[in-house]
Amino acid sequence: MLRGLTGKVAVITGGAGGIGSEVARRLGVEGCRLVIVDRDAGAAEDLAKSLPAAIAVAADVSSAEGTESYLAAALDEFGAVDLFHNNAGIVGAIAGMADLDPASFDKVISVNVRGTFLGLRAVLRQMRQQGTGGSIVNTSSIGGLVGTPGLTSYVASKHAVVGLTKVAAHEVGGTGIRVNAICPGIVDTAMTASFAAEAPQDGPNPTERIPLGRLATPAEIADLVAWLFSDESSYVHGSVIRVDGGMLS
Ligand code: NAP
Repeated sequence: MLRGLTGKVAVITGGAGGIGSEVARRLGVEGCRLVIVDRDAGAAEDLAKSLPAAIAVAADVSSAEGTESYLAAALDEFGAVDLFHNNAGIVGAIAGMADLDPASFDKVISVNVRGTFLGLRAVLRQMRQQGTGGSIVNTSSIGGLVGTPGLTSYVASKHAVVGLTKVAAHEVGGTGIRVNAICPGIVDTAMTASFAAEAPQDGPNPTERIPLGRLATPAEIADLVAWLFSDESSYVHGSVIRVDGGMLS
């Protein structure tokens, strides 16, 4: 068991997805109380029912109403927010920059950047009001560190998540709130499957670019998130952590 997690209230956006659901299961084992936020209401409900102390909230993170609704639900049910995994995200269209539809760009920015910002804004206010610190993990990507052809919106949005993390870390210093970003490589989730289905089939096998020779499991990402939420990472703040099997090394 990791130090400092038992009884904490964790809000996880994209909580019914591949990475978010594993984070929920892992934090459940650690004795956290959970708020699973996803636009997929059925999947969020099913997951919440399978965990000892969890509720599901159907919300769109890109809207102010959605953000307010998941924060209000967390406070109604558990009275506080101690941990926040700001994780919901989409890939968007795969297209060269010159051919990219601006509406598709806007959609990705709306979920990945505006959604991350709205979540940070709401939860930072709440944590400051509580006055008991907290830990926030924003999900960026290796796409937040380097460019990839065909992924303009996603790469721009995930670089922005890194920027939001850095500003927040400076602003909350001394409040006991820690803010970090994780940059997963390629994780074995539905997002990766749909991306692979759209990518050119004659392209290189992505695992050839990964020194560990395989995709990450969602549980391996959840292990990092749980550690960042725990007291065992008490001096890790404003960090942007790659978890990519060595892909960018
Ligand atoms: P996933 O399995 O597709 O899960 C994402 C979840 O977020 C889905 O349940 C999705 O619902 C939900 N969601 C999307 N837009 C939302 C919105 N506006 N409001 C509320 N919920 C929303 O993807 P994942 O692989 O777990 O990805 C989680 C995060 O990790 C994302 O930010 C992603 O960019 C990042 N990441 C993933 C990888 C990877 O290789 N998989 C690598 C690096 C970073 P729907 O199913 O209805 O869309």
